[in-house]
Amino acid sequence: MNLKTLAKQIRKCRKCSLYKKRGDAVPGEGPENAKIMLIGQAPGKQEDLTGKPFMGRAGEFLNELLKKNRTDRKKCFITSVVKCRPPKNRAPKPVEAKTCVHEYLIKQIQIINPKTVVLMGKTAQKYIPEKLLENRNIIKTFHPAAGMRFPKIKHVMFLDFKKLKKK
Ligand code: URA
Repeated sequence: MNLKTLAKQIRKCRKCSLYKKRGDAVPGEGPENAKIMLIGQAPGKQEDLTGKPFMGRAGEFLNELLKKNRTDRKKCFITSVVKCRPPKNRAPKPVEAKTCVHEYLIKQIQIINPKTVVLMGKTAQKYIPEKLLENRNIIKTFHPAAGMRFPKIKHVMFLDFKKLKKK
């Protein structure tokens, strides 16, 4: 199994009801040998339109965080817990998140085997089995959508992303 095959499966997935209202599924993007993996919650409107992760305003903020720490976005693998946009950007339901993690995110982590995993937001911190995170640098931080809205959270995120530079 490789990332390309997995992405093809994701794009035609019907394992939970999110497929009914999605535009494009968003498998994630980045090289198979990425040392850093960034995981968000779910695609939003721009991601659903383009099929690519973090393309909207939260994505711009994420780019800024990475740039400030001299981390090249193109060298990271960026994805989300669920690969299809939930209606009205609601949080994924447990059954949606669990299904998607089991079918796809676990396999992506196993294939990439990243040294560092950045878990952005509560959803990312909730559904990934502990076992998969063992022996990696784990950075738990807020979701960029929160960081761009609230200055205090933005500040904490800048501090959290600084850890990338040290790794
Ligand atoms: N938020 C996410 O969690 N993922 C995206 O791809 C975009 C916004």
